[in-house]
Amino acid sequence: MARVIVVGAGVAGLTSAVRLAEAGHRVDVVARDLPRETTSAVAAALWYPYLALPQDRVTTWAARSYRRFAELAADPATGVRMLTGTEIFRETTGDPWWREAVPSLRRVTPTDGLPCGYVDGWSFQAPVIDMPVYLDWLVGRLGELGGTVTRLNLGGLPSPSELGTEAGAELVVDCAGLGARLLAADPTVVPVRGQVVVVEQIGLTEWWLATDDGRPTYVVPRAAEIVLGGTEEHGEWSRTPDPDTARDILARATALVPALAGAKVLGHRVGLRPARPSIRLERDGEVVHCYGLGGAGVTLSWGCADEVVTLVG
Ligand SMILES: Cc1cc2nc3c(=O)[nH]c(=O)nc-3n(C[C@H](O)[C@H](O)[C@H](O)COP(=O)(O)OP(=O)(O)OC[C@H]3O[C@@H](n4cnc5c(N)ncnc54)[C@H](O)[C@@H]3O)c2cc1C
Repeated sequence: MARVIVVGAGVAGLTSAVRLAEAGHRVDVVARDLPRETTSAVAAALWYPYLALPQDRVTTWAARSYRRFAELAADPATGVRMLTGTEIFRETTGDPWWREAVPSLRRVTPTDGLPCGYVDGWSFQAPVIDMPVYLDWLVGRLGELGGTVTRLNLGGLPSPSELGTEAGAELVVDCAGLGARLLAADPTVVPVRGQVVVVEQIGLTEWWLATDDGRPTYVVPRAAEIVLGGTEEHGEWSRTPDPDTARDILARATALVPALAGAKVLGHRVGLRPARPSIRLERDGEVVHCYGLGGAGVTLSWGCADEVVTLVG
């Protein structure tokens, strides 16, 4: 069994660490930002393949993760719930390219009572993950398996020879997200800024998703709050919430779900999705790279983690 250093404490790093530890490896996570400080903590987080390629691998990883999240939803402590929701369109559209990743998908039409102006869509059950709760659960699970999480701001990936050699082989798993620009010298990883508004829970149990003029609007209910989004701003680095954007998100979300009118705003969040033309999940010598998960890091997390374990060997 290997001694493995995982760089990154977002959903990719923690899930990989848990899977590696479950496979019997000795795993330590190091990260500049601790789990609740990461982009992963900002995610809405609805299971949905979005801003992530290539389609064939993404569909496989998403399907694997869907099954694992469905199992985790049996335990309320994980923060994972399976909720039915609907994605709607203003034009007729074919089935989604990731169709085979979900067990069932029901087409909806205007006769199903779609919001005004929408003519097509689909409804399915998806995992919805309360990220702060879930990230804490992953850290706890890793701890049960003997793994650790330590804050460390790296200037480069640790070389295996620097890791110390107590036992077995040494490997590095690079789950640095946007940090791979520096750590893997990869300028193809770019930020896609996402802003959300968190409002009080008003008794909503279904999620909604729509795309208008290229902008995603989503309403994702958690147990105690509702996450409203969103934006997709390519190449934007600011992590400061913009008040005009927040007003626009509230207006769009309320148009989608009128019951949100007047819901108390609890907070504003911004995250920088680590996007890449194609996700990098491969082994290069003693380093396994797993980054560039774009807008689907949660959605793909278990499938990617399983492949990391295979690549570690
Ligand atoms: C508004 C918003 C909504 C989203 N909604 C969803 C959703 O509904 N569903 C979904 O699946 N996804 C969603 N996403 C996308 C998801 O959040 C990302 O795909 C995911 O967080 C990427 O995870 P990661 O672990 O790769 O990166 P991150 O969470 O960014 O973690 C990277 C880690 O690497 C560490 N690191 C970086 N550089 C260094 C360094 N130099 N030294 C040490 N450590 C370093 C960081 O500190 C951090 O710990 C959303 C994102 C946003 C912003």
